[in-house]
Amino acid sequence: MIRCDRCSLPSAVHQRYSGLHLCPDHFTADVERKVRETLRTYRLFGRGGLVAVAMSGGKDSSALLYMLKKIFSPRRDIQLVAVLVDEGIDGYREQTLLSARSLADRLKIPHRTLHFSQEFATSTDSMAARTRAEAPCTYCGVLRKNLLNRAAREMGATALATGHNLDDEAQTVLLNYLRGDVERLFRLVPRTPKEGMVPRIKPLRRVPERELAIYAHLHGIYPQGHGSCPYVPWAMRLEIKEILNRLEAGHPGTKYALLRGFDKIQDLAGPGSFQMRQCGRCGEPTGQEVCQSCQLLERLGMGMGQRL
Ligand code: SF4
Repeated sequence: MIRCDRCSLPSAVHQRYSGLHLCPDHFTADVERKVRETLRTYRLFGRGGLVAVAMSGGKDSSALLYMLKKIFSPRRDIQLVAVLVDEGIDGYREQTLLSARSLADRLKIPHRTLHFSQEFATSTDSMAARTRAEAPCTYCGVLRKNLLNRAAREMGATALATGHNLDDEAQTVLLNYLRGDVERLFRLVPRTPKEGMVPRIKPLRRVPERELAIYAHLHGIYPQGHGSCPYVPWAMRLEIKEILNRLEAGHPGTKYALLRGFDKIQDLAGPGSFQMRQCGRCGEPTGQEVCQSCQLLERLGMGMGQRL
């Protein structure tokens, strides 16, 4: 039997990138240490505030809500609110939203659900039907980001936490390098406050996806059997994910190295000169004359829905 490297109990997890075998308690402590360290780097919590937690009901955002509750429980000056987004993905999203609400209720965290159908008068399903050649993630992701920021700002949140894990971050870095999209790459971790934008934080960005699945399972916070979004196979991200997983299997630590390298480049580059202004159509903050959400909806022959 393999034993934990930190105590004599049986090991439950082997971290190939660190070489450590860990029992459930030491594994949990290791994951939560990474999250606490990441939270410290944001330097946002000195004076308390309201943290809006973006939740899909999947394992990552569920583990995020659970850990933030655990970490911030001793802080009376910090409140949490879960923000759920229903993008309109038939047969998939209903289940994950049920999970998200039930976890938030169990943790006694208030929650609010926003619907694409009410905010944009459309759904990811209907956008996918109109744009057969394009990955729906382009539309879905942009509109969700817009909605989450707007909701967090209207609630008076001081931070918007998302469940992006190490795999997501490494994939995004590589994806944007491959597309030559430097501007998007540098917006990945905003370094300076932007007017109208609630500071985004990614407390899980140093925790591998596999470890979040194990963490969620160990703590009984993610019911199995939701499957994944039906549009995942359309995304280029899936190819990047497979490439990175192959590299990680052959060269443990590749994903960490990619993210560390990107963070160093970003430190060297400094805050940049990215200027925010108001979108000429909907008034939301953007770096361009018309925000990406309005551009995408216009391309589909839609306006900003009932919000306008
Ligand atoms: Fe939206 Fe793509 Fe995520 Fe599905 S996989 S929820 S389409 S961003």
